[in-house]
Amino acid sequence: MNFTLVPIALIIFLIAWMLFRTLQFQRVPSDVEPAEKISVDKLLVSKHLSEAIQVRTISKSVMTDEDRTPFVQMHAWIEKTYPQISKKLTKTIINDYSLLYTWPGSDPRLKPVLLNAHMDVVPVDEKTKGEWKVNPFSGEIRDGFVWGRGALDMKSIFITLLESIEGLLGADYKPKRTIHLTFGHDEEISGFQGSLKIMEYLKSKGTHLAAVLDEGGMLMLGSLTDSDSPVALIGNTEKGYLTMKLSAEGKPGHSSRPPRQTAVGILSRAIALMDDHPMPAALNHVLPTLKKIGFLLPFSSKFAAANTSLLKQVMIKQLEKKPETNALVRTTHAATMIKGGIKDNILPASAEALVNLRLMPGDSIEDAFIHFGKAVNDPRVKMELASEISGWEASNVSSTDNPAYLTLELVVRQVFNNVPVAPFVFLAATDSRHYQPICSDIFKFSPYLITPEDQAGVHGINERISQDSLVNMVVFYSRLMHVWGDAEF
Ligand SMILES: [Zn+2]
Repeated sequence: MNFTLVPIALIIFLIAWMLFRTLQFQRVPSDVEPAEKISVDKLLVSKHLSEAIQVRTISKSVMTDEDRTPFVQMHAWIEKTYPQISKKLTKTIINDYSLLYTWPGSDPRLKPVLLNAHMDVVPVDEKTKGEWKVNPFSGEIRDGFVWGRGALDMKSIFITLLESIEGLLGADYKPKRTIHLTFGHDEEISGFQGSLKIMEYLKSKGTHLAAVLDEGGMLMLGSLTDSDSPVALIGNTEKGYLTMKLSAEGKPGHSSRPPRQTAVGILSRAIALMDDHPMPAALNHVLPTLKKIGFLLPFSSKFAAANTSLLKQVMIKQLEKKPETNALVRTTHAATMIKGGIKDNILPASAEALVNLRLMPGDSIEDAFIHFGKAVNDPRVKMELASEISGWEASNVSSTDNPAYLTLELVVRQVFNNVPVAPFVFLAATDSRHYQPICSDIFKFSPYLITPEDQAGVHGINERISQDSLVNMVVFYSRLMHVWGDAEF
């Protein structure tokens, strides 16, 4: 035997093994039968969304009585617009402005499901008003789109949930399982007065939910893959939230005789050290996503993703390149606000900065403080929670192996032309996290196709949704309520 050939044989074997694994990674899911067609009145759904946009349910950090009036108007608008719902479902008003509708099922053995939408929207920045093509609260219908604040986030979901139930009631459908519809009024300012209170109410009644569906991932074009085909991403967990306050003190005095570093300098160095020492990256939450859409990835990504035991660092380096994918592999941090000093020639007595973190499941608030405390390693810098409500842990990870998820995935593929579906870590916060004490299967999915350009309209300018999307959303929710309403899980 020629011993010099042994390493070559090993290398060939290794490459063959890695290629074999790569092939396994590109399994294409088999097609499912499309969902049954139902007729949806596109103009009417669009008109209803337009009307809902015109009700200015805006969440502000300080709410006056005047700001709250539109929520009461919205309650009345639902009563008037959806007579079947108003007649046949039980309505409970929670904390004056949030709503819980209950559609009782015929089989009390089955745990209820809950579908959520928040009624509130973020304000429109006065400075950007001129860039809007329409008045943001006019609900204008133009060029096949309904325009305005909340069109995507998330009055379209709110309206199409109502449309679907109104339609199912009209068709005399009776679910076996109880279906709760919840409409929070303060999601954009954290949901502590709305969804948290609804959850507490349900908990006090002994309710345990089989599943929750809220806003979240969408049908996205080209965000994870370079392919032209859309991918439907369903959040099965969401990142935690933490705003850290960094502060440093200095001695005020004349800036002509400065110390080596002022409070502003101390703080700037701390922030620079944080940026140089981000929280460590890991692949455990992104791999389940990549596995499901592996067949759409370019060969090099597929090869790396299929062989992470050897190519973990290569894969991480690749994902770290873009902010969108970097956020899928680690807890991110961003210095967002800084202030210090009162005049250019006075040494600052203090300086303060806020750093916003989004915590990956597995990284706790405490872990983040320990990590960045070590990175900064400067006793002159005080690091603390910015306020009592500026931190919460990442959500639990819901299983994708149970009937609630699998039926959801099926309905997405039935309605949206066999689109590939993958679970993922939703990067922002939603109301649904408040339901964790009474539900372990919580999913975050907004059933519309979105381009990167339209995605910028969320909390931005020219927010709009296509009228065709609204039709698909009604088809999707009607189908899902049918499936979840009858399935034994
Ligand atoms: Zn939202």
